[in-house]
Amino acid sequence: MTESFTAARNMILENVSPLDSEPVDLLQLVGRVVAEDIRAPWPLPRWDNSEMDGFAVRVADCQPLAQLQVDGYIPAGASGSGISVQPGTAVRIMTGAPVPAGCDAIVPIENTDVDGDLVTIKQAVRSGDYIRFRGSDIAEDEVMISTGTVLRPAEINLLASFSRPAVPVFRRPQVAILSTGDELVAPGETPAAGQIIDSNSGSLAAAVKELGATPLLLGIARDNRESLAEKIAQGLKADVLITSAGVSTGDRDLVREILEEAGVQRLFWKVAIKPGGPTAFGLKGKRPIFSLPGNPVSSMIGFEELVRPALLKMAGHREVLRPLTKAILKAPLENETGKTRFLRVVVEKTAEGLLAESAGDQNTGILSTMIRANAIAILSAEQTEILEGEEVDVQLLNP
Ligand code: AMP
Ligand code: MG
Repeated sequence: MTESFTAARNMILENVSPLDSEPVDLLQLVGRVVAEDIRAPWPLPRWDNSEMDGFAVRVADCQPLAQLQVDGYIPAGASGSGISVQPGTAVRIMTGAPVPAGCDAIVPIENTDVDGDLVTIKQAVRSGDYIRFRGSDIAEDEVMISTGTVLRPAEINLLASFSRPAVPVFRRPQVAILSTGDELVAPGETPAAGQIIDSNSGSLAAAVKELGATPLLLGIARDNRESLAEKIAQGLKADVLITSAGVSTGDRDLVREILEEAGVQRLFWKVAIKPGGPTAFGLKGKRPIFSLPGNPVSSMIGFEELVRPALLKMAGHREVLRPLTKAILKAPLENETGKTRFLRVVVEKTAEGLLAESAGDQNTGILSTMIRANAIAILSAEQTEILEGEEVDVQLLNP
């Protein structure tokens, strides 16, 4: 059951769906994903209003240098009802105030001379000047924010201007993270000879958080049935379970065994990628379970390429894959694996476009190459070599 990269990723995405929704208050909404189309309950602006401080006039009265009698005043916040512009007169008006009856243009104060109750119009006036018409921004009942939109301050402003105190957004997935291995000790502890500090829990939790989901750290399960069964049972209460280690061929395959005993249906257990090959994916009901390799670089890349898109889909996002961009290679890159190869690269923006080069030793044991990298280059199984000056597909990690 070794899947190609694309088949594996598609299989994952086909088997996860957005979670249910929850109402969230306006001030907590930034970054959340809207769970229903939101229509405008009324037009915006709600009434014809003035774009400037100035005078509401009748265009027919406004030949250059015409003098009009100022009769009436509509400040911002006034309804303006009962006020109209009579022939030969102008009504003083403030920005945002409703345009009075009879008015077909606003003359900004800077285009006039005011002398007591008389105003002189200094510039030509056209019908509609400086009036913001009802519904000219957003029509009544228009879908102003569609399902799947990630809310930014601009959308928050829009919702507030329609007096929406809360809107339904997709629930953020709670993601249980389990490290496995007899050799592991928790960060902060002093490792004895041969012990390894569990660094994967931290990086996976960070990656989960970075995309807006909630990590739930289960700690370390030991390489025995009881310990694994207990932790996996806990993890299966979350929306997603991610385990690391214990799935490579050298192991007794305990993680997979225990997952199966816990009722997890295995969809695949290997992917033709490097790093990250020994990644397994299964389902318990609708709940996805990812088993990542233990090697820190492999677990991070496996998360990036296979888990992240699934979590984004569950959180309701429409864009779940990082865009592929072309970069020009400064030095050749090789892929002799016969698999999809993810190479840690440094991409630099230049006047000639994006330039890429290897971030260092590509051995999966080398963490520092991952630290230097700001992008991942993807070579398909068929791309055995890409030469200097040729294009390569890259995903920018922190654009
Ligand atoms: P495994 O997949 O169990 O064979 O583990 C592969 C390698 O990753 C071993 O060198 C482990 O010590 C290391 N490893 C496994 N789990 C972790 C972890 N949580 N944090 C850091 N390294 C780990
Ligand atoms: Mg192990």
